[in-house]
Amino acid sequence: MKPNALPIASRKRIALVAHDNKKKDLLEWAQYNRDLLVQHELCATGTTGTLLELALDTRIEKLRSGPLGGDQQIGAKVAEGDIDFILFFWDPLEPQPHDPDVKALLRLAVVWNIPVACNRATADFMISSPLMSGSYERILPDFAPHVNRFNDNPRLLEAVE
Ligand code: PGA
Repeated sequence: MKPNALPIASRKRIALVAHDNKKKDLLEWAQYNRDLLVQHELCATGTTGTLLELALDTRIEKLRSGPLGGDQQIGAKVAEGDIDFILFFWDPLEPQPHDPDVKALLRLAVVWNIPVACNRATADFMISSPLMSGSYERILPDFAPHVNRFNDNPRLLEAVE
């Protein structure tokens, strides 16, 4: 494995979120793809998770409802390396009370090179990819220049001395 890569196992850790106007879409999509989805580890924001558990008759880790912090919980899992794949059917036609959280989650997914499907067509392409049933090396950008940007910075050291 490359040093800047993280493994994604064949059993993926998938996070699912749907805004209220998109819940029907996600439920239909998930029911259609039930046999594939239940082979993976699923977590979801609160309401989405409750509905999916009923629709799929499978166990789903339910986080807080999105506006109450659920999107941020998924973001934290992304940063911890605990999510491989996100299905996020967000609503492009309605402002959400937690728009900053939505943006933050989408941003973190890009930072950590996590695949994200924001609509049904993308979800169809992703779930039918041969990579879904195999392992994958998720290449990460080199974060060292950012993490170490104050190392050996004499001016900063002078300021705190
Ligand atoms: P919900 O949250 O699943 O609890 O409805 C989704 C969201 O709006 O982020």
